[in-house]
Amino acid sequence: MTCNLVWPENTKEVIPGQNSTDRHDLTARVFKVKVQKLVALLKKFKGFGDMKYFMYSVEWQKRGLPLVHLLLWFMENLLPNQIDEIISAEIPNLKTVWKLYDTITKNMIHGPCGSLNPSSPCMKEGKCTKKYPRVISKDTKTNNKVYPLYRRRAPEDGSHMLAQNTRGKNTGNKFEGIQVDNSWIVPYSSLLSKIFNCHINVEFCNTVKAIKYICKYINKGSDQALFNIRQPGNVNIDPRDEVQTFRAGRYVSSNEAAWRILGLPLHERHPTVIHLAVHLPNGQRIYFTEKNFRERMATPLKTTLTAFFQLCQNDAFAKTLFYVNIPRYYTWKVSLKEWKRRERMEHMSTAVQGPTNFLDLNTVDGQEFETFRQVREKLGLLEDDNHWDATMKESILCRSPSEIRDLFAILICT
Ligand SMILES: [Zn+2]
Repeated sequence: MTCNLVWPENTKEVIPGQNSTDRHDLTARVFKVKVQKLVALLKKFKGFGDMKYFMYSVEWQKRGLPLVHLLLWFMENLLPNQIDEIISAEIPNLKTVWKLYDTITKNMIHGPCGSLNPSSPCMKEGKCTKKYPRVISKDTKTNNKVYPLYRRRAPEDGSHMLAQNTRGKNTGNKFEGIQVDNSWIVPYSSLLSKIFNCHINVEFCNTVKAIKYICKYINKGSDQALFNIRQPGNVNIDPRDEVQTFRAGRYVSSNEAAWRILGLPLHERHPTVIHLAVHLPNGQRIYFTEKNFRERMATPLKTTLTAFFQLCQNDAFAKTLFYVNIPRYYTWKVSLKEWKRRERMEHMSTAVQGPTNFLDLNTVDGQEFETFRQVREKLGLLEDDNHWDATMKESILCRSPSEIRDLFAILICT
């Protein structure tokens, strides 16, 4: 979903002489609310059925407007014949659903590109990288490609065409004189397009390829470009220095800057995943400043592990649990550095129940061990070196020499 500058929320607060593009503080806030609304619609109001999990991340177009990539998993698998109920790739009927027609024709037509506009940004080596115009098809067909072949009926089969002279004012009428049929429509959801009136591309991702692609898209971070102006006396960027490269190559647009200054979320997922700290006694990472280092030295902040020991000292139920089961019944309060019992009950050290301190972790069946390694061995949690040998043997069968060298280096480091 991409922010739409003509949303009334973006236009009504600007002062005379201003454009909504001048008000990144406003467009950032408005877009954040829209994303919340979108998630609520799908999660609480079950717009497409019961939802299992979701994840999204916010990104910015090169010209500056925010967009969100949202990946949803549903409880029930969507059958091929149900795809048409949710996703459409056809021009709506101007006469019956004129508002939807307006949203789709303003936001969901790709191009023009190809021979009509060879300099379109989607063009590479004479071809559209987004594969438009798409194939005209009477029915939706699933295949082993990234996305299904959506239904895009031909004009002979009663589909609608883009009416001329309805576009124009805001778009510079880039489609004037061009016959636009369903092959140019970016897949959308009528429900979401009607509610949000903006660019929302909806795709059915049921193949491993599609999920891999979307997960990568959500987690890859901003695009980067690195350029270097060489002049005598200039500091050159060493491409081997990853930190320097990252800092020098990052591009932050005005809207992204406003978004970050306002502290709006860049990423969200449900259910929340908690990283449980695992460390040796006094082995946790501690952050301090010049001012607070004495205090931090005297009483280090609790980690999820030390807070777990404390919880087990006072909470009879927690004592019956393994460390990995704690997040199921307790939530981690970051500000308090404490585990709090969940109000709404849902029905996990990882091998010792209810330890109240590090010493407990060293004790198995009443027998105390000197090192944690001995404990792990006693509990059968450590494997011997045989599995490294097995890993190498296996890699010889199917990996290239350079890959085997990499693997060997990893084995040594681990
Ligand atoms: Zn194109």
